[in-house]
Order: sequence, then structure tokens, then C-alpha cells
Amino acid sequence: LDPTGDNFSAEEVDIEKALRPLSFDDFAGQDQVLENLTVFVQAANLRSEALDHTLFHGPPGLGKTTLAHILANELGVGIKVTSGPVLDKPGDLAGLLTNLEERDVLFIDEIHRLSPIVEEYLYSAMEDYKIDIMIESGPNARTVQINLNPFTLIGATTRSGLLTAPMRARFGISSRLQYYSTELLADIVQRSAQILKMPISMEAAIEIAGRSRGTPRIANALLRRIRDFAQIKGNGKIDIEISKFGLKALNVDAFGLDEMDNKILTTIIDKFKGGPVGITTLATAVSESAETIEEVYEPFLIQQGFIHRTPRGREVTELAYKHLGRVKGGIQGG
Ligand code: ADP
Repeated sequence: LDPTGDNFSAEEVDIEKALRPLSFDDFAGQDQVLENLTVFVQAANLRSEALDHTLFHGPPGLGKTTLAHILANELGVGIKVTSGPVLDKPGDLAGLLTNLEERDVLFIDEIHRLSPIVEEYLYSAMEDYKIDIMIESGPNARTVQINLNPFTLIGATTRSGLLTAPMRARFGISSRLQYYSTELLADIVQRSAQILKMPISMEAAIEIAGRSRGTPRIANALLRRIRDFAQIKGNGKIDIEISKFGLKALNVDAFGLDEMDNKILTTIIDKFKGGPVGITTLATAVSESAETIEEVYEPFLIQQGFIHRTPRGREVTELAYKHLGRVKGGIQGG
């Protein structure tokens, strides 16, 4: 179960698109964020202006890309989608920017991974809707300034701390997405099941929701896997029995922690006496990159109260010992 979706097959990507809410009304949760965005969109529509540049940050799978598409829909404009690592030449960016129509959205995922040259180039586009482009080459080479249509840049990042200060300053709107409650995720699971034409009981939806790490992408991914179990090993309906059976077979535990979450906790306990341990040392010990631990795993473990950060590193809490059936300072319990 991949909260980032980076390793999804083409089919999984298609299903994810099919499950994506298209309007503010379909989007569950993030009430404060939505309330503000609704006002900003209405105001921009009223004045026929481009919406201010908008930044979404927060862990993967919480709806940043979905919101970018919803904003374009609610503004009644087109959207072009790219990502930081893909945009490696200013020329590529210029191509995208010059093709934007008035008020269009340009969505840049993983915006913290833009190269410094491309980022610099983006500044004048965001600020004055102007870019300099180089025409011809050799002795005739010269730059000309091109006016762009007013547009909205929507950036998404899992690591707002890695954005440069000048980049951050150019976003008029900045919203942090939060993990979802089980109730909201249950609504999302039921909505998705309906789209997939799969009967599901309320109890089953809540069970799946509670084990989804607070993340809609995981809730949807679990739903699809449980659907397989229901169709092959069950009676074609998603009820509580088949859900529990499937979740067990998928190794998802009662808190929705996955293998890596549990590995992080057991490693801190077994190898570092419960911590504190530095992020780099921990990353090496669990064979995962420090970046991924910080972006994907740690925020949830902290939010759920399994780890906390101290100035000297990460420490597991009593809850983690309890969850893993361990005794603090002792040997493995039952
Ligand atoms: P991010 O860009 O933050 O990684 P996405 O926007 O791609 O996350 O969302 C991942 C999946 O979760 C999408 O398929 C989307 O349908 C679903 N999703 C995210 N947020 C919501 C929500 N608030 N309501 C319903 N579905 C959601």
C-alpha cells in the first residue's frame, strides 16, 4: 500500500482518477481550507481575475492534486499538469506558460524539487506574468520579453520546509492539508464503492476507514483490494467479515500502521533503546531514505502519538510499546 501512489500501475492510476471528486461539494473534509478557497474562487470569478497563486502542502495522498483540479473546475478554466522533477529546463516551462489561456491553472506537483534555474525563471512569470525567452543562437542570440496571460500557479509539496523563501513568498494562498478522521474516510470509502458499483456495509466502510492511516489514497487502495477478496473469496459484497479477512491478509494492523511504520517503531525500540535516535541513523537502520521517513511515515506516527520529536532525535512513546506488546526497558512481552 503506497501512500505516495508513485508505484501505481496504469490501471491503478486510472481508477484513482475515476474516484477523484470534481467539485467542492464532492470533496470530504478539510473544512477550513475549503471554506477559504470557496471565498477566494468566488471573488476571483466575480472580478474575472486569475486566482492568486496557491500552495498546498501536507503528506501524500491527502488530496492536493484533487484540489488543484477542483479549483480549475470551480474557476471554469483549463489546467496543465506537471511536476518539479520533470520540468528540468526553462524552455519546457516557457512552453507550458505561453500555452496558458487567461486564468488557466498550471499545477506543479513536488514543487520543492524544481531546479534553481527553473525556479528563478518562474518568479517573473508569477509576479508580472512576463518571461524572457532566448531567440536564435550564436551571434544573433537575444532575449525577448513575452507577456503571458494572467494565470494561477498551484504548487503541491510534501515538504514545505524545503521550499525556498522567495518561492514561498510568491504564493498568495497557502493551505496545509490534515489527516482525515475515520468518519470522513468512511464517507469517502462509501462514495468510492458506489462509483465502483460495489455494495458495502456501513460497518465495513468504517473498518476500512479506520485502517487507512488517515489518508484517502490508502482508503481507496484498501477498498480496491478488499473488493478483490469479496469477489473471489466472498459473496461479492463487502461486509465486515470479508473486510477483516482481507485486512489481515494485507498485513494492515488495527491502527492502520503498515509494515514500514511497524519497522520504524520496532527498530527504535530494539536497536536504539526507544530513542532518541537521529533521522539519518534511523533511515539507515530501516533501509529507507530519510526524506521518505520524514514525509510519509513520521507525520502519521507523530499524529497518532507513537513517536515524538526531541531536540536529540526521535523517541517512541508508551503507546508504541503497548501497541507492539513490548515492555519498556525489558524483553519482548506477549
Ligand atoms: P495528493 O496529491 O495529496 O498526493 P491526491 O489528490 O492525488 O493526493 O488524492 C489521492 C486520492 O485520494 C485520489 O484518488 C482522490 O480521489 C482521493 N481523495 C483525496 N482527498 C479526497 C477527499 N477529500 N474526498 C474524496 N476523495 C479524496
